[in-house]
Amino acid sequence: MYTKTIKQLSALLQARDISASELASLYLARIKQSDLNAYIDVNEELTLQQAKAADDRLASGTATALTGIPIAHKDIFVTRGWRSTAGSKMLENYVSPFDATVVARFNSAGTVTLGKVNCDEFAMGSSNENSYFGAVKNPWDKTAIPGGSSGGSAAAVAGRLAPGATATDTGGSIRQPAAMCGVTGIKPTYGRVSRFGMIAFASSLDQGGPMARTAEDCGLLLNAMTGFDERDSTSIDRPTEDFTRDLGKPLAGLRIGVPREYFGEGLAADVEQAVRAALKEYEKLGATLVDISLPKTELSIPVYYVIAPAEASSNLSRFDGVRYGHRAKDYKDLADMYCKTRAEGFGDEVKRRILVGAYVLSHGYYDAYYLQAQKIRRLIAQDFQNAFQSCDVIMGPVAPTVAWDLGAKADDPVANYLADIFTLSTSLAGLPGMSIPCGFGQGDKNGKRPVGLQIIGNYFDEARLLNVAHQFQLATDWHQRAPDSV
Ligand code: GLN
Repeated sequence: MYTKTIKQLSALLQARDISASELASLYLARIKQSDLNAYIDVNEELTLQQAKAADDRLASGTATALTGIPIAHKDIFVTRGWRSTAGSKMLENYVSPFDATVVARFNSAGTVTLGKVNCDEFAMGSSNENSYFGAVKNPWDKTAIPGGSSGGSAAAVAGRLAPGATATDTGGSIRQPAAMCGVTGIKPTYGRVSRFGMIAFASSLDQGGPMARTAEDCGLLLNAMTGFDERDSTSIDRPTEDFTRDLGKPLAGLRIGVPREYFGEGLAADVEQAVRAALKEYEKLGATLVDISLPKTELSIPVYYVIAPAEASSNLSRFDGVRYGHRAKDYKDLADMYCKTRAEGFGDEVKRRILVGAYVLSHGYYDAYYLQAQKIRRLIAQDFQNAFQSCDVIMGPVAPTVAWDLGAKADDPVANYLADIFTLSTSLAGLPGMSIPCGFGQGDKNGKRPVGLQIIGNYFDEARLLNVAHQFQLATDWHQRAPDSV
């Protein structure tokens, strides 16, 4: 049963071939046995309560396509009942009095929460090793990172510990872990998914989205996640859409832009081979490849690592020992309490970003760094608009390498930052981007580590992206492969 997709589970639930309670129990048992460290907080009683309510709803005929579907929530979305830690000691025992809009939307669709999944602290990272709750293991190879920051979401889906999960992407955190764990993920257009109750990292970049094994399942989850929310000032006021509406459209005539800059130096041979084979498959499906250029790609790293820390330093000022979470035990006065609380509560990467952020926003440096970065951000967005003159979607690798070994880059923040090269510019531009499994590489070892194909679309083109991914998944079986450990 745990190998079934959300779409298949939905049919079984509606036909009453399995109950939501049975399904939830089955997953809870798998989670208990797992050694991946994907889950931070599990609450069986609450899960089974939700499952029971879903069963009542299924019996009464008021079910939605997602009623009774078990899902995991990235521990960056606040939840009533489960702890909401953002992977930080600062919020180790924090229980939110309200649900994030995303969580509330899923609850009203009738999904069953399996628990909260691990992530890098405040979503800062590319390997999930920055979590206060420890690293997550990649189900394909337990000596490898799962990617980050949504490493728990990706590992849970790949390890069949949930058929779907929520995640967030600020600079690649949905696409990169999805790629490294061999699952499907989509970061929607900025503003599609409410940020209300999504613990903030960099507000102008943060965007929630789903992970699942197939594009079709991602579409079903996205249907529940999106929609205008007046409690998020950057929520986009557009009518709700059925993101699965285009599934089934043939790809004949589709123009795929292939950015030169995504295939240059630094791209590992095993990743390039898998991505090029996927592009060939698209040609067989009737698409044509168009050579394009995104000339500012390289600048996305310095630009992102100015803007994201700037916003983070401001967002994280709220963790002061007064309002939420951790407070130091011994202190002399108020200032000392702030200092000790923050010194104890935050991990190294978070502190590094607060320092960088405060620096680039400070008087005298603001124009040189922050303002300059904002200007280049605009040019990066313009690069994409120029490219979309000659293509409908853009494809390339998600990351320059497959998952690296746990610990291999743990002491080298810059090496981690460089691994974001192909995902940051999409985030800076606010565009939707997907990752789908397209093969395997070996990394440095004789391993078997998944490769992801990135598909980038223009604003609000999620329905097309999902179909472009879906057609590939109808023609290939990469997304159906399961790790040996499952
Ligand atoms: N790896 C990037 C960072 O560390 C992106 C993280 C994210 O998207 N949340 O900031």
